[in-house]
Amino acid sequence: MTDRYRSFANSGVGRGLVKRLGLPQPAPLRRYTPGDPLVTGPVLLAGAGRAAGPARAVLTAAAVEVLPERGTAPTLAAIVYDATDLATPADLADVHAALHPAVRSLIPSGRVIVFSSPSESAPAAVATQQALEGFVRSLGKELGRGSTAQLVRVAPGAEGNLASTLRFLLSGRSAYVSGQVIDVGTGSAPIPADWNRPLAGRVALVTGAAGGIGAATARVLARDGAHVVCLDVPAAGDELAAVANGVSGEATQLDLTAADAAERICDLFAARHDGLDIVVHNAGVTRDRTLGRMGDAEWSQVIAVNLTAPERITQALLDEKLVRSGGRIIGVSSIAGLAGNRGQTNYAASKAGVIGLVRGWAPVLADRGITVNAVAPGVIDTAMTARMPPMLREAARRMNSLAQAGLPVDVAETIAWLAAPATGGVTGNVVRVCGQSLLGA
Ligand code: NAD
Repeated sequence: MTDRYRSFANSGVGRGLVKRLGLPQPAPLRRYTPGDPLVTGPVLLAGAGRAAGPARAVLTAAAVEVLPERGTAPTLAAIVYDATDLATPADLADVHAALHPAVRSLIPSGRVIVFSSPSESAPAAVATQQALEGFVRSLGKELGRGSTAQLVRVAPGAEGNLASTLRFLLSGRSAYVSGQVIDVGTGSAPIPADWNRPLAGRVALVTGAAGGIGAATARVLARDGAHVVCLDVPAAGDELAAVANGVSGEATQLDLTAADAAERICDLFAARHDGLDIVVHNAGVTRDRTLGRMGDAEWSQVIAVNLTAPERITQALLDEKLVRSGGRIIGVSSIAGLAGNRGQTNYAASKAGVIGLVRGWAPVLADRGITVNAVAPGVIDTAMTARMPPMLREAARRMNSLAQAGLPVDVAETIAWLAAPATGGVTGNVVRVCGQSLLGA
């Protein structure tokens, strides 16, 4: 699905006109291809909290040129600022002092990453750390040119777990993620032998893999080294086979709402793989209608596919002890699940329920080393959004800080980051892949 406005806004004539009229300016986004350097220029590392040293080690290991605080360069690929030691509102002067001179040197698709401390107890420190959320969310809205800003809350003792998340956020893998608050905790997070193959040796299930976000997820997980079992309804069998063949994976035709769906999935992984490491509950449907006009079938089908199936399948896989230690369970929610949406009481209920599954399971499974997270996509150009009324889709594409829709690969990259062994410190998170959508902000 082409975005004609974005093409026009980036053309010779369009660029000037769009700027003069104050219209949204959707910049081309830097996206990842294997072998890319982590960033395309120097990174300013500022602040002197407990995360700065470990962050420096991550950057140095990735052969990034690191500039010291107040260091200057004509251009910066990213600013990483460690605010974990800020304890009083007066300390916030340091945020301005460190970032104000640097932010204008940020290149297009640049990155600002702020580290904060989630577990302060003194009210002044809690207030100061919370202030950083407002700062980062506002900065994400004003950076422009495809740049993003994120807050990473680093639990005490989790400083050594930053590599996977810092690398994801700096790279083109996080092109459509902005304004997010991500918690990094102390779980086991082994560093991969090869950062280009962080999922080597892992077995994954991706539901709804015949097209859209699911197909992109199968491709990205396979690219990163996983063996992928692709699942979709029998009616999508041809597309499913093409995706599975393309990733040298397996195709399984199954309607997730069938009474024996969970049992059949368990049988498959028990018989062929002796378990699995990654479960991506991506299959989803919409049946939009205002509640007064919504029939039983429209309500129940959406809940059955989007919420009941992930719950039942995950529970069955856990009961059968098929999710290996270090497993990764990833739900696909939606910004509609956070903000609500007219005509989507069924869909928003199901997608909010997915967030509930994350909240319910993450603490329970932590001691088995299994993480549970969700992504919440905004407007992503797929068959699902192609069905939106054109004017509504056009408006929705612009109503975010990056002024464009995301691509399926943007959600897939975020899922792959959450799926990695090295992301073991991240659990119970809901990460929006929405270009910092105004909905649910
Ligand atoms: P899509 O319609 O392109 O793909 C969904 C896939 O799920 C299809 O291949 C479909 O056949 C499969 N599926 C549906 N019911 C199934 C069932 N009973 N059993 C097995 N498979 C089934 O949609 P998409 O845009 O790629 O969306 C993927 C996920 O992302 C969904 O959960 C959706 O709710 C969510 N999402 C999408 C967007 C977006 O903008 N596209 C935004 C927010 C959330």
